[in-house]
Amino acid sequence: MKFGGTSVGNVDRIRNVARRCLATQAAGHDVVVIVSAMAGETNRLLGLAHEFGEIPDAREMDALAATGEQVTSALTAMAIHQLGGQARSLLGHQVRVVTDSAFTKARIRTIDGSRITEVNKQGAIAVVAGFQGVDDAGNITTLGRGGSDTSAVAIAAAIGADVCEIFTDVDGVYTTDPNVCPLARKINKISYEEMLELASLGAKVLQIRSVEIAMKYGVPVHVRSSFSDAEGTLVTSEDKLDRDMERLVVAGVAYDKNEAKVTLREVQDTPGVVARIFGALADKNISVDMIIQNVSSGAATDVTFTVAKADLPRAKALIAEIGPAVGMKDFVVDDSIVKVSIVGVGMRSHAGIAAKMFSLLAGEGINIQAISTSEIKVSCIVAAKYTELAVRALHTGFGLDRKDVHEEPAT
Ligand code: ASP
Ligand code: MG
Repeated sequence: MKFGGTSVGNVDRIRNVARRCLATQAAGHDVVVIVSAMAGETNRLLGLAHEFGEIPDAREMDALAATGEQVTSALTAMAIHQLGGQARSLLGHQVRVVTDSAFTKARIRTIDGSRITEVNKQGAIAVVAGFQGVDDAGNITTLGRGGSDTSAVAIAAAIGADVCEIFTDVDGVYTTDPNVCPLARKINKISYEEMLELASLGAKVLQIRSVEIAMKYGVPVHVRSSFSDAEGTLVTSEDKLDRDMERLVVAGVAYDKNEAKVTLREVQDTPGVVARIFGALADKNISVDMIIQNVSSGAATDVTFTVAKADLPRAKALIAEIGPAVGMKDFVVDDSIVKVSIVGVGMRSHAGIAAKMFSLLAGEGINIQAISTSEIKVSCIVAAKYTELAVRALHTGFGLDRKDVHEEPAT
């Protein structure tokens, strides 16, 4: 049972967590709880660190950031004690969540589940501090923002848990962002692959890495609300989806406003030019998402690509620098764009899904600026001002709208 920052945001909520854990134990389960820091705490700690320089020492950043989860694991254990239960808190280095030494974004190498199972064997609830680990040299490490999800799934895999329940402030994974599309529905079951695409494309419920681990080890993940008993969303393998009745080709619609588009006009159309441009970007650690090269008109062609907005200043400087060497006439940048995507394993067996997406967007008069596809997703770049319109049109067009809302009859 993993509880996020909002779920342990104050002492009353920590009591609520303790109650839920005890109820689960009373139902006959061995319980392991993974907690995040109290809401806002990690940001507060990182803010403090930045009082001491723009780029504080990464090792010390982790020593600091890990304290947030140390607090909640101890408090949660105390809350369980107060309600008459037995519990013991465990920090990353006590469990032995061993990671590499990439401070602030460490990756888990091994987990020794025996400390946890020992606690369970004594009839107690193990309360593990999420987000943190320890490297081979004994340094405290953290797993990147949102890393408690990854702690939870990895620990579930290590101890062979029946299920990893992720308790959060929403009641599950939605077909799209309900703030943008009021007709968004909670998804009952979704495959690992779809969840991974949705998380990568901008859905923020689960850390991407946690979904990768769940998929690799086949851990069933149940995303649900810490404030209700309602069933949430089960993330599981594709063969366990029983979408029969509501079998839909598209499982969800995602959007991401964090990209910007760069177009290099009239670069030489000769071997090695594209390699040179993207090699230079890669050398500077700038990740490129979409790439389009147009048919050349004579000896020159236009090349368009997208990067994270945060990388745009560096990308611009670099393009200005290497442009002349590839004969570039000039370049234009557009950061008022959004990437809208449809995701679904059903696309593998259905033709025409991309075409339907294009015509739904066209039907709203939305121009498509770039397209990319994978086996189970199609993404289009459109002008940012169309975000709501595009998401809603795709949501309705692919049959995802909630059925329980009665629309006002047209007058
Ligand atoms: N407390 C960490 C963060 O805010 C880890 C987590 O909550 O998952 O990123
Ligand atoms: Mg989170």
